[in-house]
Amino acid sequence: MNNKLYGNLIFELSHQGREGYSLPKNDFGNYSVADLSSTLKRSEDAQLPECDELTVVRHYTNHSANNFGVNNGFYPLGSCTMKYNPILNEEIAAMKDFTALHPLQPVETAQGALKVYYSLQQMLSELTGLSEFTLNPFAGAHGELIGLMVIRAYHQSRGDNKRIKVIIPDSAHGTNPASAAVCGLEIIEVKSTKDGIVDVEDLKGLLDDSVAAMMMTNPNTLGLFESKIPEIAQLIHECGGLMYYDGANLNPMLGACRPGDMGFDVMHINLHKTFSTPHGGGGPGDGPVGVRKGLEQFLPTPRVVLNEETKELEVKTDNYENTIGSVGSFFGNFLVILRAYVYILTLGKENIKQVGPMATLNANYIKERLKDVFELPIEGVCKHEFVFDGLKDKSTGVTTMDVAKRLLDYGYHAPTIYFPLLFHESLMIEPTENESKETIDSFIDIMRKIAAEAKECPEVVKEAPHNTPISRVDDVLAAKHPIVTYRQMKNEL
Ligand SMILES: *Cc1c(COP(=O)(O)O)cnc(C)c1O
Repeated sequence: MNNKLYGNLIFELSHQGREGYSLPKNDFGNYSVADLSSTLKRSEDAQLPECDELTVVRHYTNHSANNFGVNNGFYPLGSCTMKYNPILNEEIAAMKDFTALHPLQPVETAQGALKVYYSLQQMLSELTGLSEFTLNPFAGAHGELIGLMVIRAYHQSRGDNKRIKVIIPDSAHGTNPASAAVCGLEIIEVKSTKDGIVDVEDLKGLLDDSVAAMMMTNPNTLGLFESKIPEIAQLIHECGGLMYYDGANLNPMLGACRPGDMGFDVMHINLHKTFSTPHGGGGPGDGPVGVRKGLEQFLPTPRVVLNEETKELEVKTDNYENTIGSVGSFFGNFLVILRAYVYILTLGKENIKQVGPMATLNANYIKERLKDVFELPIEGVCKHEFVFDGLKDKSTGVTTMDVAKRLLDYGYHAPTIYFPLLFHESLMIEPTENESKETIDSFIDIMRKIAAEAKECPEVVKEAPHNTPISRVDDVLAAKHPIVTYRQMKNEL
């Protein structure tokens, strides 16, 4: 690829006077001429690149080829459920009937969209055993914050204002303590046993009447089923706290067991993980929050409700005295909601039960076939993902970072590395249910090959990647001095 012509930034390809656009037909007649006040108008022209269409097409096509996504190849990122995103979802989400909707248009003209929203709420309730969902939160972390705000509102509604602590396992995803802190709550860490699950004895010592909630992820971030949940739920409830379920790892549980039945009171789901939406690089996502019976009153507004008399769907914001209020504009990421709806309907009640077992089988198969060359700190059956603690042979000096970089040379996305923080050389693999045996076998072969290279020619692994457009980046420099803006004006360069 000739970087001078196609690479770099679109602004660098700009030539004054080149045009590569055409405006869409005006469907709105005279309504399209808005009379903006001068305070809203630009005082000088925006600095936009001026390029012909072919240059633009090549520029972005070549950039897209440098990207790696689940449509390019295997993407074994743990904790993120990077599953295949069916084309049908994309086709439906691209329909103008959905994309041209406006959130402020009259509800009687948006009954179809409201039905998607309302039906997905019902489906999620059925899948999780909880009473009611809001789809308004925009991400998992956003859902966590809103779930905790619901929990705080519940305690405050009872005048129980001393409940300010949230108990969080040491294996938890970083968003858990972050959300609790943003919610103004105090974080108490509970230890894991050597088997990687919550240590109930340690938990017992942390309980008192200031506990607002316990947050748990199940299966946890080590891919292990938290087998002590019934006992933990009883302990937390007895001391007056509520149980929060981080549902980011719901994938292996789908249709098999339900957080509501396990004793959880509030949860979030990551639609962009479990229910297939392209995500990464920060979005888009949607993090519905569900609650058990009795807590519905605290959920955010607006809500989509069925008018029993007219059978029409309505949008309600008032009449909810105890609501925590609005948590974002309108109704969450509607096109993510739509994809999740299509995904669930496509699978249907029976096939959705296959997701968990297939994801679990794939993860266990990889684990068992690699554990002689990679260090497996916790033995036993995992669920959808598992964690290695680097290569078994530590004498080569080859780290998890090196293995991850070398995988790029072989055309794989790297797994999650250095998370969870329980081990020094964490390497976390989640294959998802969609991958064929052939894909998984090839990945295993490459992982074994890298383990062999680490012994025979460690430098090759330590200096990887060798075949990517950019070789190994200095992550410290990239993190400490990120350059995320482009100075357009020549005299600012
Ligand atoms: C991804 C993830 C989150 C956060 O979800 P976002 O949608 O990325 O905000 C929380 N907990 C766990 C266990 C996760 O894997």
